[in-house]
Amino acid sequence: TGGSFLYHLENNQVVVGLIVDLSYGNAFLSPFDEFQRYKHHPVIKQYLEGGKRVAYGARAICKGGLNSLPKMVFPGGALIGCDLGTLNFAKIKGSHTAMKSGMLAAEAVADALLADGQGGDLLNGYVDGFKASWLYDELFRSRNFGPALHKFGPLVGGGINWLDQNIFGGKIPFTLHDTKPDYACLKPAAESKRIDYPKPDGKLSFDKLSSVFLSNTNHEEEQPCHLKLTDASIPLSVNLPKWDEPAQRYCPAGVYEVVTQESGEKKFQINAQNCVHCKTCDIKDPSQNITWVAPEGTGGPNYPNM
Ligand SMILES: Cc1cc2nc3c(=O)[nH]c(=O)nc-3n(C[C@H](O)[C@H](O)[C@H](O)COP(=O)(O)OP(=O)(O)OC[C@H]3O[C@@H](n4cnc5c(N)ncnc54)[C@H](O)[C@@H]3O)c2cc1C
Ligand code: SF4
Repeated sequence: TGGSFLYHLENNQVVVGLIVDLSYGNAFLSPFDEFQRYKHHPVIKQYLEGGKRVAYGARAICKGGLNSLPKMVFPGGALIGCDLGTLNFAKIKGSHTAMKSGMLAAEAVADALLADGQGGDLLNGYVDGFKASWLYDELFRSRNFGPALHKFGPLVGGGINWLDQNIFGGKIPFTLHDTKPDYACLKPAAESKRIDYPKPDGKLSFDKLSSVFLSNTNHEEEQPCHLKLTDASIPLSVNLPKWDEPAQRYCPAGVYEVVTQESGEKKFQINAQNCVHCKTCDIKDPSQNITWVAPEGTGGPNYPNM
């Protein structure tokens, strides 16, 4: 499952994107290369031909919805927007829901201050306000969308979704759950079909490095690597033999490389300065060995028009 979008902007600009569901199984799949190939589809190509590539970016979409919401509050703080997971996956829209969660949290903060709160409070008013709001209702109505597609595939799952959305208004009397994490869906390389992606033509499709350059990503040098490996040996000792180290492909910025040194020995290289902060590695590493942490300073991509 997945999706795509194409928006027309002012000054004859076009924003095109491909959404690759991170529950994919083929260890050789490369979301970046799928996107390059997608741009050659006649329907998309007609809008891109003769144009100039001006920007590039990538971002994991928090699509778990209602069934994946963590605890919303902690002493003195609250999670809002995509940090909480309020995106409506059925519509792939999360701006209005993020705003609403922020408004509900702000109202709860105001109530706590007016009640002479001394800080460090648990904002339970935010949780209650959320449950009573249209936001909860909207997320409730879309709760089955992802699990239905993941469990039953696009045909049967799509049918269930059609029934749920159009006949039951999102209130079909059962709730489906995604119980398998995305990283656990990756099949070993031996069970995956190799994919030979076409070479980029430099007009519609491009290589990773020149694309990353256009993300304007920047990290101050001489800082600790913000991509933490729990066990530095796993990429070569486990991931390489079992999954052909999929980080080489799922990372859309070419951060992870398996390089062969002059001695013939292999080395797992992390080009952390190229990271566009999409968080895919944290989600998709099949060994769950990578933790993305905020880098020092204000490092990261700098997307134009955003
Ligand atoms: C490709 C794509 C297309 C989308 N299309 C749509 C659409 O058409 N319609 C729609 O409604 N939704 C869409 N969404 C979803 C929508 O963008 C998000 O749901 C929404 O932006 C979430 O808002 P937010 O404020 O929670 O988080 P964000 O918009 O992600 O804002 C978080 C902010 O925090 C900043 N930040 C992060 N870490 C730090 C730090 N350590 N210090 C300081 N600042 C930090 C980030 O730079 C960012 O500006 C799309 C998402 C993607 C990825
Ligand atoms: S290193 Fe991780 S967060 Fe950074 S671009 Fe690659 S996959 Fe995304």
